[in-house]
Amino acid sequence: MELDSLSSLEKREILFTDIKNAIEVNWINHSKLPNNDAIIRSMLTLSDIDSAEARLRRFAPFIKMAFPETVEAKGMIESPLIEVPELRKALNREKIGANLAGKLYMKMDSELPIGGSVKSRGGIYEVLKYTETLAVENGVLDSFEDDYCKLASPAAKAFFGTKKLHIGSTGNLGLSVGLMGQALGYETIVHMTSEAAEWKKELLRDRGVIVKVYDGDYSEVVAKAKAESVVDANSHFVDDEDSKEMFLGYAVAGKRLKKQLRQQGIVVDKEHPLFVYIPCGVGSTPGGITFGLRQFLGDHVHCFFVEPTQAPCMLLGMVTGLYNNITVQDVGLSGKTHADGLAVGRPSAIIGDFIKPFLSGILTVKDKRLFDYLRILWESEKTFIEPSSCAAIHGPVCWGHSKEMADYLEDNNMNRYMENATHIIWATGGGLVPENVRQELLTKKV
Ligand SMILES: *Cc1c(COP(=O)(O)O)cnc(C)c1O
Repeated sequence: MELDSLSSLEKREILFTDIKNAIEVNWINHSKLPNNDAIIRSMLTLSDIDSAEARLRRFAPFIKMAFPETVEAKGMIESPLIEVPELRKALNREKIGANLAGKLYMKMDSELPIGGSVKSRGGIYEVLKYTETLAVENGVLDSFEDDYCKLASPAAKAFFGTKKLHIGSTGNLGLSVGLMGQALGYETIVHMTSEAAEWKKELLRDRGVIVKVYDGDYSEVVAKAKAESVVDANSHFVDDEDSKEMFLGYAVAGKRLKKQLRQQGIVVDKEHPLFVYIPCGVGSTPGGITFGLRQFLGDHVHCFFVEPTQAPCMLLGMVTGLYNNITVQDVGLSGKTHADGLAVGRPSAIIGDFIKPFLSGILTVKDKRLFDYLRILWESEKTFIEPSSCAAIHGPVCWGHSKEMADYLEDNNMNRYMENATHIIWATGGGLVPENVRQELLTKKV
């Protein structure tokens, strides 16, 4: 039977069955709205992102002092946007068959300073926001206009040494929060899943961060971290499943990318659509970035999340309308994936419902492909990113195979503009992966 002749109810049934059977799907979100309509029901606005960006600027002198790798960028935590023509060629070859028109870029958040991942945006932003409030309330800083380099003084360190940060992490969030927490003098406790990469645990322990490891699912680990934090008046819990602050930290990327696009002469308008593909775990990262991009670039940016077929928690929450009240385990999936940063069974409590009017769709990808993409990227561009990050490379590939994606273009009258399109793979992590682990991943077969 032709899919076109199926009712939407039947299509939903098929989609749901495919998700349960861990089959790769391309889901188009029919609840997407023009930005002006979407923003009306939004709890956050462009001015919230502006004030987050201003906060990051206030901290820049301190960051520059504490992290020498940020000196050149004057203490700003930002990454390059680079064109990847060789990857485009490789994906367009028959074997992969992306058949991609337009240009292909990568946003190199895998190389962000401090944490080597996109978590250097959201995770670090939340630590800074909390720090600023504490510092001003307790006289460590006189005001928001004070010299933030004072935060590196022994007196400031002594003050923050009496405070704790608790965080649940699949790995990268722990790295970002742990390293920034450490630089400010906090006692930082990172609670990790046993699946989190060993080198991430070691790196944190080497820097004096306390790492606790648990066998359970990510949501259980987050619950344990929270339980330990809430009973301690001197502790702050960085809540990956429910943090407006972290979300805003990610959203700043929208403002920064707009500037980068302009500098590189890349136009975004009706005749020049922009497509962005972002790996999704709990959803905070891709949600924040999508929100920021829609606020700063408008209706001609089309954002897609990418999730592993065994852990499509955001997709499941959205198509059932149950959001964080359903887990991938509830429908018989394992939640296990080699994409450790995406090994999440239950989505964020705040993202799904919030981001729905801004989001174009969600794609799922099998683990096997992640390692194919990892090698193809390495061979074509000599660029390394971690497996979780490789999920984003699946985005451009879907255009060559997907009826749903073709319909999306048709429905939005975009076919004729695809030659002018820009595609951005959001590389979310990999910068700190040690050489021996890189070699292992490059030869890994699953
Ligand atoms: C955390 C992470 C993601 C996804 O972020 P969420 O906020 O959990 O959705 C994607 N890629 C990498 C490398 C990550 O570390």
